[in-house]
Amino acid sequence: DHLISQIAAGEVVERPASVVKELLENALDAGATDIRLRLVEGGKTLIDITDNGCGIAADQLPLAITRHATSKIRSLDELEHVESMGFRGEALASIASVAQMRLTSRNDDAHHATSIDNSSGTWQHQASSGEVGTRIEVSHLYYNTPARRKFLKTDGTELSHCVEHFTRAALANPHCAFSLSHNDKVSAFYPVTDWQTRIQDVLGKNLPEHAIWVNQAVGELQLVGMICPPDVARARADTQYAYINQRFVRDKVVNHAIRTAYADVLHHARFPAYVLFLDCPAQGVDVNVHPAKTEVRFRDSGAMHQFIANALKKSLAQTAS
Ligand code: ADP
Ligand code: MG
Repeated sequence: DHLISQIAAGEVVERPASVVKELLENALDAGATDIRLRLVEGGKTLIDITDNGCGIAADQLPLAITRHATSKIRSLDELEHVESMGFRGEALASIASVAQMRLTSRNDDAHHATSIDNSSGTWQHQASSGEVGTRIEVSHLYYNTPARRKFLKTDGTELSHCVEHFTRAALANPHCAFSLSHNDKVSAFYPVTDWQTRIQDVLGKNLPEHAIWVNQAVGELQLVGMICPPDVARARADTQYAYINQRFVRDKVVNHAIRTAYADVLHHARFPAYVLFLDCPAQGVDVNVHPAKTEVRFRDSGAMHQFIANALKKSLAQTAS
């Protein structure tokens, strides 16, 4: 069984950044408004995340680290309408099978926190101290599978993948404060704010000059965010963030719609910097194409393409006049 979970873990836990992604999603699912992430040596040595979300009841802790015991999806019907971010019920179990994990949590009803820890080889429970919320410490990723550990890249490379997931989460969740430190040096702090200020805070000097703010709606479809003016539209693969219902996506339909909008105002359409949030009814999009991937499938991709392209063209035209 341990072997099976290690194999399955490979699907979810490819590198430190995969752990970071799952833990951030769990914290946001738990309603956190403050998330602190500490990484040591690119996350290879330690990933330590603390949130102020709802916490986990002490008697539920063993379930939280049991494969498929806790999936937030409870029926096929629910699977069709995934609105919560996590839905596989196996991230913690997978991570725990390839790393040392300590999970410390306290919910509203508890007088103190409880922690469980697998570093001795079996799960040890312990009364512990801590505020309402959850702290998860994942150390020495792949300590028990040295062959896999060898595939990890340099600290700098692993760190940049972790930061990418941190940035994606921060952009989409301005209602939550985020902080990040690496090797005990604080590298980012984003206080609670509105989405526009969050984009400015996160992009910093990467925010294009004269950024164009998008805010367009047609029926139940809404597109808000930031695009750059056509004259500074150049390839910026590092500043391209698209979200559908708060979930980061890389999607052909979305990309093509963006390119189409710029093609009208540029002779040779380059890829502009953008941060865009598309909101649509949950039935309109299937996010479950592959849980670990960033693909989606629209029920009506033609209509979606048209909406996005038109919304962006309008935003570009308004700025031009
Ligand atoms: P999933 O998110 O798909 O349910 P996970 O393995 O990621 O599966 O998490 C297992 C369970 O542990 C969650 O369903 C949730 O009940 C609990 N959990 C995990 N992280 C947190 C957290 N940060 N705050 C509160 N509960 C959490
Ligand atoms: Mg999860």
